[in-house]
Formats: sequence, C-alpha cells, structure tokens
Amino acid sequence: MSNLSLPKEPNTAVTGCLDSRYPEVYSSSFAAEGAFHTPMPIQTTSKIWHNGNLIPWEDANIHVMSHVIHYGSSVFEGIRCYGQPVGSAVFRLPEHMQRLIDSAKIYRMELRYTLDELCAAVVDVIEANGVAPCYIRPIALRGYGEIGVSPKGSPIEVYIANFPWGKYIAGHGGADVCVSSWNRLAPNTMPALAKAGANYMNSQLIRMEAEINGYQEGIALDVNGLVSEGSGENIFVVRNGVIYTPPLSNSALSGITRDSVLTLARHLGLTVIEQAFPREMLYIADEVFFSGTAAEVSPIRSIDRIVIGDGKVGEITKTIADEFFGIANGLKPDRFGWLTPVRVNASEPVGA
Ligand code: PMP
Repeated sequence: MSNLSLPKEPNTAVTGCLDSRYPEVYSSSFAAEGAFHTPMPIQTTSKIWHNGNLIPWEDANIHVMSHVIHYGSSVFEGIRCYGQPVGSAVFRLPEHMQRLIDSAKIYRMELRYTLDELCAAVVDVIEANGVAPCYIRPIALRGYGEIGVSPKGSPIEVYIANFPWGKYIAGHGGADVCVSSWNRLAPNTMPALAKAGANYMNSQLIRMEAEINGYQEGIALDVNGLVSEGSGENIFVVRNGVIYTPPLSNSALSGITRDSVLTLARHLGLTVIEQAFPREMLYIADEVFFSGTAAEVSPIRSIDRIVIGDGKVGEITKTIADEFFGIANGLKPDRFGWLTPVRVNASEPVGA
C-alpha cells in the first residue's frame, strides 16, 4: 500500500462516496464544513450571442416563469478554445454543435440555425469578446410562454456565452475520487445521449456527495451496477497495456473528448476497447483517467481511497494527455482537423 496522503485516511471500511464517519453531513446542507470544493466564479465578458444578435452580458436574462426554470427544458454544450502559437482555436467545434443539434432533436426542440450558423456564432462571440483561451457555453432553452408541462407554447431561445476558465479537476498528481452511491440515468428514462440541463440534477447529486466526503469527483455506475462515467466526464481504465472505456449503452454521454482519446489511442497503436466493466475493475487498474471538455485528460490517483497503480500518473495516460494537449495548443500538427481558428491573441491560460 502506498503512503500517499489520501483524503481523510480511513479508520473504517471503504464504502465508496458514502462514509458513515460523517453522518452529520447527510442531515446538513452542501455548505457543510470539510467539503472539498474548488470555487469557480464566472468571469464576465462583454457580449453574449442571443438568437442571432450579440447583446450585452448583463442583458442576457430570462423570466422566472420561463419553461426551463420549472421543467429543466434546456440542452447545452461545453467547448474549449485554446491558445495557439498564433491566435487561438476552438477544439472540435462542429462536433460539439452537432451534439447540440442532436440533443435538441431528441427533445423535439427546433433550433432554427444550421450547423454552420451555430459554429459561426461561436467564432463571432469569441472574437467580439476578445477572450481566449476560454470556455464556451451554448444553450438552447424553452423560454417564457406557457406554464403547462407541454413545451409547445414556449419559445426556444439560443444563447452562446464565452468566458475564461481554468482547470476543472484539481490535483496535479491525479484526482482522489469515489464511486457514487447514485446511479446514472437508467435507459429510457432521461436520455443519456442528450446533453440536457435536467440530466445535471443527477450529476449534481454525484458531485455534491463526492465533495462533501472530501473527494474531487464521483464516478457513477449505471442502473445495472456497471461503470458508467463521472458527473461531468467519461472514464478510461488501463490494465496490462489495454485501454478500456464503457460503451455508450452504459448511460455514458457521447463525449467529444472521449472520441478524441479513442482516436489518439488508436493512432498511437494502442489497444482500446469499448466494453462494459464492473466497479472492481477500477480498483485493480494500472491507470484510470477522466476525459471531458472541462476536465480535459485528468489522471485519477485513488478511488475510494484505494491507490491506483503506484499512485503516479501512468505512462499511457501521460502519452495520451501529451498528444491531446499538443494538438489542442497547436504544438503538434492538427492531423485530424480538430481546430477552428479564431482571431484572438491568447493571453495566459487562466488558473491552469
Ligand atoms: N459525461 C458527462 C456527464 C458530461 O457532462 C461531459 C461533459 N460534457 C462528458 C461526459 C464529457 O463530454 P465532452 O468530452 O464532450 O466534454
């Protein structure tokens, strides 16, 4: 067993995120002391794109009686724009906007904008604000119209904001995470392939439980007890040189970064298998890492206080992360055509 300093050394059996040593936390609020939480204040910019126009940041408001407020009716995206040796570039912009269109289609939301128009809107708002590197948040929501559950009478509003954002998963040597007591969305309940705002009520339960117990993130199992994904990340494990990730049928979001990792791994000649696997595979893996737009490629150091491998960032994780960041930052050739240039000179990454 490694002598790494893991969060709150156990004096009871390992129980995943739920830990009976902190019973008071469960009857208390998320504000309980001892919760691991990295503040992520929103840094405002000048403009937000709204239904085809750039409007002042402070005017991008909706009414409290909007459909989305009551029924969670939104679909959204999270995208990153990276600094390049010259200018900046959005990572996999068309893929993200296609997923927005797909999410909207699942929920019968008519966006009225083509893929090209949505991609151009993202470039427009970044260039108007002159902020890069940045995180981009497009959202389509059902607005103010009617109060019933049926969304038909509520107009669809599309907004795109961008703002500086640094690292999402803290911990340079890898994150300390847990397996959540909450399961991911069961098939045919909330569609996991749609990146819908309402799905993030489930993500919030996973993330809050993890933070309250001193972990950086939670990993959720699917409704059958098989590994699914993090609250906002896909997951990969490495064992005996082979990379595994759960298939989308384990209620995982079709992550754009997940696809990038699969592509990079295959091009590096690594064996990568999309395969369902049980929770205990996490504990005996040589390496485990998260992938996601916010999380990028984030190594995991321990799960439920069990050290992964030797507790150091593994070779395969490192190789994939180097490729990923090399391409994203324009330091390696963009051989898969993943970058969309924007005319903004990058400042230093914020918080990275
Ligand atoms: N799963 C969930 C639940 C997420 O919220 C995210 C972030 N969008 C991901 C996976 C990773 O997806 P992507 O790589 O496209 O950001």
